Amino acid sequence: MRDKITLECTECKQRNYNTMKNKKNTPDRIERKKYCPFCRKTTLHKEAK
Ligand SMILES: [Zn+2]
Repeated sequence: MRDKITLECTECKQRNYNTMKNKKNTPDRIERKKYCPFCRKTTLHKEAK
């Protein structure tokens, strides 16, 4: 049940991170604060569709 997802910066839309999530435990799109090398700061990253 663990699926690969991509985390996308909400500011510049770059896809910076790949991660896994369990869709059964986490049905909603996840949001993580992560460092974006394009914005050169920590931004909110959302799961890309
Ligand atoms: Zn960014």
